[in-house]
Amino acid sequence: MRVNGRVVRDYLDFRFQTAGETELVIDVRKTGGEDWELNIERDESEDLGLGFEQIVPRQCANECLFCFCKGNPETARPSLFVRDEDVRLSFLYGNYTTLTSITEDEMRRVLEQRLSPQYVSVHATDLDVRSYLLGIDKDRADISGKMRQMLDAGIEIHAQVVLCPTINDGEILRQTISDLAGLHPGVSSVAIVPLGLTRYLNDSRLTPVTPEFCRETIKHVSAMQKDLRAQLGTTFAFLGDEIYLKAGRGVPSREHYGDYPQIEDGIGMVRSFTNQFQSLMRRMDRANASEAKTGRSVCGTIMTGTLFAPVLKQLIDRLNQRFGTQLKVVAVRNEYFGGDVSVAGLLTGGDFLAARGEISGDFVIIPRVALKSDEAVMLDGMRFEALREEFDVPLHACDFQDLVSTITGSPN
Ligand code: SF4
Repeated sequence: MRVNGRVVRDYLDFRFQTAGETELVIDVRKTGGEDWELNIERDESEDLGLGFEQIVPRQCANECLFCFCKGNPETARPSLFVRDEDVRLSFLYGNYTTLTSITEDEMRRVLEQRLSPQYVSVHATDLDVRSYLLGIDKDRADISGKMRQMLDAGIEIHAQVVLCPTINDGEILRQTISDLAGLHPGVSSVAIVPLGLTRYLNDSRLTPVTPEFCRETIKHVSAMQKDLRAQLGTTFAFLGDEIYLKAGRGVPSREHYGDYPQIEDGIGMVRSFTNQFQSLMRRMDRANASEAKTGRSVCGTIMTGTLFAPVLKQLIDRLNQRFGTQLKVVAVRNEYFGGDVSVAGLLTGGDFLAARGEISGDFVIIPRVALKSDEAVMLDGMRFEALREEFDVPLHACDFQDLVSTITGSPN
């Protein structure tokens, strides 16, 4: 309940109030209602061995046109309908918030406990457009004062734009990038990710993202990126991988992404993966890896979303040719969400099952991102173990990043 006399609301408070303290007085209320006072001495580096309950997220009060919650089928897991908008989770896990309903108390906490960085969904700095997209009035949509307060206190901000054709693209996007660049280095990056429509999210005010739109966006933003690199020394405004893939273009170079500030938002994952894959091929070359060592024994199937499959197939084909592996890439269609959903992370158990007829070899790999982060369950509620039983060969869930080493070693 309290540490050294100060109330503890959650894990973050506990961490903040115990940091650097070697003598602690902890007030505890036992389940039976009895109060205990514990006096603890510890070395600074010593862990107290306490477990914490998960933070229950605060929810937003927006009505975004493109809200992912509206894109879920009714049968989706209840957690997919949680409209989390919580500065604590933003700090801990990089979840985006719109800052539209942050309370004074929460703001005080961000500043006092230095919950930096914060991830902020800006979408547009034009207030008419932002309020339209978020379904709120202009006063609430205006977060310039709140961002200023954070930046003045040294809180770093990563921004996001969900790009909706005909609403916040073109001149509005140019203005948004330019306004945010004016706040650099406090605002250190902007992720521009495309609107995703499912068969359930079909609001007539939303226009689907087409390959042509992606090509136009790349052209438009590339010119700005060049200027930003010259002015700020960083690309600053990054387009989501999906935009390049949908446009049929290659993703930019390693230098473009710097230290990959928005990789969790799908920015630069393809570049990072491709580079790792290529360096693995070089290592194998250097080690004179022969067919005998690697090849024939590795024969299996990798399932992924339709967006990434062509890129992965190209890399795997080269691996197969050079080292004699017999790996097959299967592009799995997303029937669960439908629409233009094509990323690996939104594939479901039912989707993998539907593609079962295309597998070959001794094992199957599916992307780990299709599973809940803390539980082996997929978005349609199917458990990984249940999916496993439906396959005649071993099924493995692999991280995007360790796929490279897994397919050339022994998957586990
Ligand atoms: S802020 Fe996020 S959760 Fe809330 S309505 Fe908008 S998209 Fe949905």
